[in-house]
Amino acid sequence: MSTTIETPDVDQSCAYCGCAVFDHDPICVRDCTDDCGSPTYYCNHGCLSAHIDAAGLAEGTSCEWSP
Ligand SMILES: [Zn+2]
Repeated sequence: MSTTIETPDVDQSCAYCGCAVFDHDPICVRDCTDDCGSPTYYCNHGCLSAHIDAAGLAEGTSCEWSP
């Protein structure tokens, strides 16, 4: 079994603001609670943070993961 390394297209856009990620400092996020789908790209930590705030993803977090 081989590992597939996915790289975004050169025109990959930010999932939050829609900017071209490679114009900034791209971040790849894979949400493994959501079917482990394709990675989502953000153009910088600000957009990732804004997405987390907007989606309430930081709510209910704790040091231990209990599925
Ligand atoms: Zn962005």
